[in-house]
Amino acid sequence: MLQAKGIKKTYGNLQILKGVDFEVSEGEIVSIIGASGAGKSTLLHILGTLDQPDTGSVTLKGREVNKLSGEILSVFRNQNIGFIFQFHHLLPEFNALENICIPAFIAKKSKKEAEKRAFELLDLFGLKDRAYHKPNELSGGEQQRISVARALVNHPSIVLADEPSGNLDSENANALHQLFISLRDNFKQTFVIVTHNNELAKISDRVVTMKDGLII
Ligand code: ADP
Ligand code: ADP
Repeated sequence: MLQAKGIKKTYGNLQILKGVDFEVSEGEIVSIIGASGAGKSTLLHILGTLDQPDTGSVTLKGREVNKLSGEILSVFRNQNIGFIFQFHHLLPEFNALENICIPAFIAKKSKKEAEKRAFELLDLFGLKDRAYHKPNELSGGEQQRISVARALVNHPSIVLADEPSGNLDSENANALHQLFISLRDNFKQTFVIVTHNNELAKISDRVVTMKDGLII
């Protein structure tokens, strides 16, 4: 599904990634762990086409994404990659339904099609009665599940998550992890997750450890 080869990245005179090779298969949940500063977020950003490597390549579904740029890259990213963050980053002025629909609107889908998919996800996540709530009217766990729905609205090939349960209590964290598992089992959804959460690492299909800019 995703292949990264020989990824190097330098900021100033600090080499953050020193030649990373990384692969993910369809329907796999891969956790990336390692000490703070190891380069995990930098790698995730490069996998997600949010940042460019200095050298190396990233191939998603057979397409070499670091050769894309501008509008073509944004469209490709929006259609193929879903993002989940530690803090949900929902837009406070918009309700849950509207927040979930945003990537679909960017992908120029009709309101009808976007909302149909959003309600499907709300239903699947047990959040149908929260559709018209603003983020500040939702609990922390609900906010994060809405952000998962937003990540999935365009049926992305892969979901990239940076500390998705980092801001949740253990009960909500476990619920989120179980949601990832069920998305993998039922829809073959692929995940790459940067995490410090041992429980999440344990239930992943594979755990990759980074140290000083390398996968060890
Ligand atoms: P991790 O996610 O493993 O904690 P990061 O990838 O966030 O590691 O960061 C690795 C190193 O790269 C850190 O020392 C960080 O300060 C540095 N770094 C990350 N992004 C930038 C940037 N945009 N400019 C300069 N340095 C950066
Ligand atoms: P938790 O502390 O378990 O994260 P909360 O006590 O914040 O949850 O919320 C419990 C329930 O109340 C949630 O289901 C949430 O949707 C609802 N809720 C919280 N705040 C508001 C609000 N301002 N308006 C409407 N519903 C709310």
